[in-house]
Amino acid sequence: MSDQIKHNSSQNFSDGELVSVLTTQPIDRFLDYKAPKEGVKLGSYVEVPLGPRKVIGVVWCAGKGDYDQNKIRTISNRLDVPEMRPEMMEFLSRAGRYTLTPLNGMLKLATRAPGLTDPPSMKIVYAKGDRDVDRMTPARERVLKILKDTADMQFTGKELKEAANVTISVIKGLVSQGAVTELESPRDIPYAELDPCLPSKKLTSAQKDAGDRLRKNIRMNTYNTTLLRGITGSGKTEVYLEAVAECLLLGKQALILIPEIALTVEFLDRLKKRFGQKPAQWHSGVTMTEKRRCWRMVAEAKAQVVVGARSSLYLPFKNLGLIVVDEEHDTSYKQEDGVLYSARDMAVMRASIEQGSVILASATPSLETWVNADTGKYNRVDLTERFGDARIPEIFTIDMRDQPMERNSWISPQLKEEVELRLERSEQSLLFLNRRGYAPITVCRKCGDQLGCEQCDARMVEHRFHGHLMCHQCGETKEMPNTCPSCGEVDCLTAVGPGVERLAEEAQVKFPNAKISVLSSDMLISAQALKERIKGIASGDADIIIGTQLVAKGHNFPLLTLVGVIDSDLALMGGDLRAAERTFQLMRQVAGRAGRADKKGIAFLQTHQPEHPVVKAILKGDEEEFWQSEAQQRRLAGMPPFGRLAGIILKGPNLNNVFNVANHMVKNAQTLDIINAQVFGPAPAPIARVRGNHRVRILVKSSKETMLQSSLMKWRNSFKIPKDIQISIDIDPQSFY
Ligand code: ADP
Ligand code: ZN
Repeated sequence: MSDQIKHNSSQNFSDGELVSVLTTQPIDRFLDYKAPKEGVKLGSYVEVPLGPRKVIGVVWCAGKGDYDQNKIRTISNRLDVPEMRPEMMEFLSRAGRYTLTPLNGMLKLATRAPGLTDPPSMKIVYAKGDRDVDRMTPARERVLKILKDTADMQFTGKELKEAANVTISVIKGLVSQGAVTELESPRDIPYAELDPCLPSKKLTSAQKDAGDRLRKNIRMNTYNTTLLRGITGSGKTEVYLEAVAECLLLGKQALILIPEIALTVEFLDRLKKRFGQKPAQWHSGVTMTEKRRCWRMVAEAKAQVVVGARSSLYLPFKNLGLIVVDEEHDTSYKQEDGVLYSARDMAVMRASIEQGSVILASATPSLETWVNADTGKYNRVDLTERFGDARIPEIFTIDMRDQPMERNSWISPQLKEEVELRLERSEQSLLFLNRRGYAPITVCRKCGDQLGCEQCDARMVEHRFHGHLMCHQCGETKEMPNTCPSCGEVDCLTAVGPGVERLAEEAQVKFPNAKISVLSSDMLISAQALKERIKGIASGDADIIIGTQLVAKGHNFPLLTLVGVIDSDLALMGGDLRAAERTFQLMRQVAGRAGRADKKGIAFLQTHQPEHPVVKAILKGDEEEFWQSEAQQRRLAGMPPFGRLAGIILKGPNLNNVFNVANHMVKNAQTLDIINAQVFGPAPAPIARVRGNHRVRILVKSSKETMLQSSLMKWRNSFKIPKDIQISIDIDPQSFY
């Protein structure tokens, strides 16, 4: 397919010629249209009439002419954006085949920019003015703060109004005083030019060697992938920015994927220091105006670097030379709804089509990546030293079987002593607990009933900070009742077990004079507020940080010297394929938060099973040995990355119907027998009901060499599935809930 497209890539279609258009509508074929007066090219973005509506599409190939000529309509207009490149067409096709997503679904991912059909024009945007305001109000303050903090983003009046939660008259008032200015701006202005020749930080010789190797890979101008492995704080970012610089020198674009959008602001500042200007950004926190600008400028190569979330992989780069996937092991790279894809794998696919480089950076790579590097499929560059005097923290266990614990308390006497020592020295401690909210379980003391979600088979989690109960599956919230919903007893509901909020309560009692700060994704109103809090903590606003998984992600706390993991056994209990790998990664990442600056760090894992092999591996810190043994176990079991898995979830309102369909599918799986695949299930999914839908899982396992996707497609399409049952197929599933 790709050859054909390349061959035709400059093809023009003049007035009235037949073309095949791919639209974003859920129709499983291309639609024929006549080219408009001004003509179209292969890859042109167009608007076409479809029934009574107009929809967006892309001219995909010449028309087939197999449709009634008299019924063929004419393309309404050709959009004022660069044509989709043949490489992008091929990427969407291949990614669609890999993830079993119809092409129109892939095109939807690639056209997630608002205003594609807008004509080029001027718009009014707002910026901070140079005069002071005469009378400050909270509303005015919010407006000014947003404009100050996000000077790199454009806001229309409507966007500013929403972001600051004010009325338009507040903004107008500020404008009349000169504290805010109104500017006429062309809709999409190019991003400031980055300068790859500015000096980097003075690199250590190990960093320089690593950087040189990455630069060399970029200069090869062909596809290659490198695992950049280095412990936290070893300067991986510094080193891959060398590759970005090389890419810019060659006049190509670079994409940097980061897992946590709350980190972007800090990260953009870092890039500004390195290259003189801030790059473009693409994630859910970006305004629509800015998204539109980013999409267009990327297509015109007027955005040299994009920092983004996984969806930025589908931006229309004109000349993509490098994709960096930072913290490549991070689970957030897997999209778990809609199109199920792994951004890490798609990055590799895209770069291989674009003849570009990929850098997968991590302190604790995923087993897949580790194996690919081990077998030589990927290059590998290691950074083993921490930058400066910072040392890897020593890690110890606290055996909870020996610690006298009071009721409803989770900080052991030994850990308490360690925290007190840090308080005396004015150093920071981090208490890690991967559980949001106040308590995971709320139970009635009289009848023993646990408060659950009505829509899901999940418990309701008390969030005392917000004053309600919440289901972590569906997000449903409700008031904490006074009486037990099941037996009616008054004032009998009790919290069982700790969440971060409850741990904070305990810490406040145990360390009455300490400043305590909780970092958990749901405590905070916005990415902005989270950023503020992280900044504050880094500069010493807190003595004790209490955090969930959120803290494991790349934040830099220079004053932190102690990490206490409250419940190391929690992650090991998951019992799925990746429980060991995940625990290992998470514990090492969390421990890595300590001692990043010039102070030595130490980490304690509270555990009931210090003899568990994974716990031992974490302490020993021999990562190669851990990966080797994990790889060996997976190889023996024929599990990924040595074999292939696909997770099939059927869901629907009626449990019996869902089970019957699943059973029928499993009993009639000859297409899968042909490729020697094993079919497991059907079984109720671990979370058997979400939002009122019953969920049933089937697992398909095959060897690596088979055509798993096409067989699955044939199998699936051979059944007529009732309308109220949805099937999703997850290739290379990461989670098994
Ligand atoms: P990683 O990405 O491996 O966690 P970073 O690149 O973020 O490491 O580096 C950790 C810290 O050390 C950062 O604050 C960074 O600015 C600093 N750093 C790393 N290398 C150097 C260097 N050669 N000169 C000065 N500072 C450095
Ligand atoms: Zn629920």
